[in-house]
Amino acid sequence: MSTFDSGRFEPLKLFLPADRSDWPDCSPEEWGNWGWQLRNRITALEDLERRIDLTLEERAGVRLSGGKLAMAITPQFWGIIEKSDPDCPIRRQVIPNIAETRSEPNEMIDPCGEDSHSPVAGLVHRYPDRVLFLVTDRCAAYCRYCTRSRLVSNASGYDFHPETENILAYLQAHAEVRDVLLSGGDPLLLSDAKLDYLLGRLRAIPHIEFLRIGSRIPIFLPQRITPGLIAVLKKHAPVWMSIHTNHPRELTTEVKEGLDRLADAGVPLGNQSVLLRGVNDDPTVMKALVHKLLMCRVRPYYLYMCDLIQGASHLRASLQSGIRIIESLRGFTSGYAVPQLVIDAPGGGGKVPINPDYVIFQDEDKVLFRNYEGKVFEYPEAERAAMADPEIRRLMELVTLDRR
Ligand code: SF4
Repeated sequence: MSTFDSGRFEPLKLFLPADRSDWPDCSPEEWGNWGWQLRNRITALEDLERRIDLTLEERAGVRLSGGKLAMAITPQFWGIIEKSDPDCPIRRQVIPNIAETRSEPNEMIDPCGEDSHSPVAGLVHRYPDRVLFLVTDRCAAYCRYCTRSRLVSNASGYDFHPETENILAYLQAHAEVRDVLLSGGDPLLLSDAKLDYLLGRLRAIPHIEFLRIGSRIPIFLPQRITPGLIAVLKKHAPVWMSIHTNHPRELTTEVKEGLDRLADAGVPLGNQSVLLRGVNDDPTVMKALVHKLLMCRVRPYYLYMCDLIQGASHLRASLQSGIRIIESLRGFTSGYAVPQLVIDAPGGGGKVPINPDYVIFQDEDKVLFRNYEGKVFEYPEAERAAMADPEIRRLMELVTLDRR
């Protein structure tokens, strides 16, 4: 029996190590080595079937969905799957399902319209002052709901974007760009030397003020957060990092140690979650996640509605469940723990914040609103409130008379 079949996943708030029992001969040094983790990823149906009883839907999914998005699961992430549970929230994120081959009418290959905002291949310039730089097409493991499934899992056959020099030339020529987000694929899969080169070239562009990395490596492959990587991040500091985690079980002891190394190195950390059906569309699960994130010095940043990517309808949760989660957090826990719920507008409209409706009534005099407990309050509009003060009215009349 694996350590996790005993139900020791509960309570959700505990930091537990990933289960290594599927690799009984692996030494602690091997487990802690990111090269070993990558070499031992689960990438084929036979690998899976040796280790877990697949459902019919999963078996068919592995056979048929590979053309859309490859399967890869690191031993680290595999070690948090509850093998006896076909509805395990971790399993749903990385094991293909036949439902991926179904396409709904409103689903797209490029749901956020990135390709139509791409002045150079590998660069998305949608907002006025910031860009998205897709530095690689690989990830440590593949999320079945990935917005960029058209680009990742080595879809383009490179690890360092072949247009890198053209992208850097574009950035040099566009002085309005002050913020560059490195993403992909996962930038932390690049070697330390390549990452050092890239960050150095970006730092040399005077108008680029803000560098950030979007990465799921701290979750899929925390072993990658080596002293060498930390040295590169410190050399080019400040480099901000947005990690991506969806369920509290993903925050294992290995992950916490990796995040501690990043936080100790002064890397500001935020988290982006995707709201997924049967994974985290539950206030209890999300509350445990955001609390664990704060314990790891990671600020919960965005909670995304799942993009309309083809083949992910079985994983999309309802907007109402997202709003319910935010309502269950706001006021009931630390403000730092409450992420912003957003929809990345289909077709390329950018991120739009969605909030529970706290305003009940508003006119030119006042706003009526409810608090987290449902109690109703009134707040006067600023100018009207000032004019209601008799002393201010008397002074205004004096000024008016004086002008005459
Ligand atoms: S880590 Fe990010 S880019 Fe890679 S498969 Fe997951 S969602 Fe897509």
